[in-house]
Amino acid sequence: MSIECTVFKGTSGNYFVRELGGTETYCVKLRGTLKKDLEYSTSLSHARRVTRARKRRATDPVSVGDTVIIDPKTLQIEEVLPRRSEFARTTPGGHEQHVLVANLDTVFVTVAAANPYPNFWLLDRFLVAAESAELNAQIIINKVDLAEDIAATRKEAAVYERIGYPVHFTAARSGQGVDELMAALKGKISAFAGPSGVGKSSLLNAIEPGLRLKTGEVSEVTHLGRHTTTTAELIPLKYDVDTWVADTPGLRQVEFWEIESQNIEFCFPEFKEFFGQCQFSNCTHQTEPGCAIREASRTGQIDKRRYDSFIQMMTPEPAF
Ligand code: GDP
Ligand code: ZN
Repeated sequence: MSIECTVFKGTSGNYFVRELGGTETYCVKLRGTLKKDLEYSTSLSHARRVTRARKRRATDPVSVGDTVIIDPKTLQIEEVLPRRSEFARTTPGGHEQHVLVANLDTVFVTVAAANPYPNFWLLDRFLVAAESAELNAQIIINKVDLAEDIAATRKEAAVYERIGYPVHFTAARSGQGVDELMAALKGKISAFAGPSGVGKSSLLNAIEPGLRLKTGEVSEVTHLGRHTTTTAELIPLKYDVDTWVADTPGLRQVEFWEIESQNIEFCFPEFKEFFGQCQFSNCTHQTEPGCAIREASRTGQIDKRRYDSFIQMMTPEPAF
């Protein structure tokens, strides 16, 4: 007999898994011969991914979020099913790739309508980070109860909806929009990202009272520098068996996402229709004459503020 399961937690070779469509959990290990096969196959698939030149060998062949087939008698993982997505970080030193969460379906980038005032620049950074990691992103505008000019906020949000990002308007405090958000989470593995204070924890508590996430302040100091702990865990939501929220501080803060500068233009989905139309084939869409993307931002086909975000991301940080 074998059972298909989701890996929701893993520590040094022991994985906690839960059956798909049910609540039975098991603590399992990887079958010895499978370990070798998987290490070999992950390194091969990474080598083929030319757009992610920095990808290195994976440190652990099984990650939180993986769908695995286990034998409940031997308590061993027999097979790891192909992944839909990977949210990975390079380990300190840059030699290995550490997949924090596999099969993440949606990243909900959260901002507040007020208090703090919506930071669209930071929203754009998160969206670019999600595109760079090839993850689906949706937007939450929380605290709509505090919005002074909701029409203006909706107008800003419409820019993102036109690009293709679904936008959810919520108020964790009153419960407004929470049912609709739950419907978007159902049957998926999701993560909440965004600046602190926008109400991510409050929203999760509105979805499920008592739900607690690890705090973002956790950090480790090693000889290679300071970094957040990279452990990730999936938290099951009670209202639906196969609905999970990924919990790792590293996912919530944009500084810990890896973005490759040469790929930034590809992380603005609305730029795609203009590629190939610039006067110079190696156009960086900044100051070159005949740039189709800059022209589109001038005519309004590309939102001016989004284009400004792009320029800001392309500009190297000043060295002080
Ligand atoms: P996080 O840092 O993103 O997890 O934000 P929290 O969930 O800790 O919320 C920050 C503050 O905003 C808390 O004082 C919450 O009570 C408050 N808050 C969260 N959601 C709402 C909301 O929808 N409306 C209002 N008025 N306040 C909210
Ligand atoms: Zn251009």
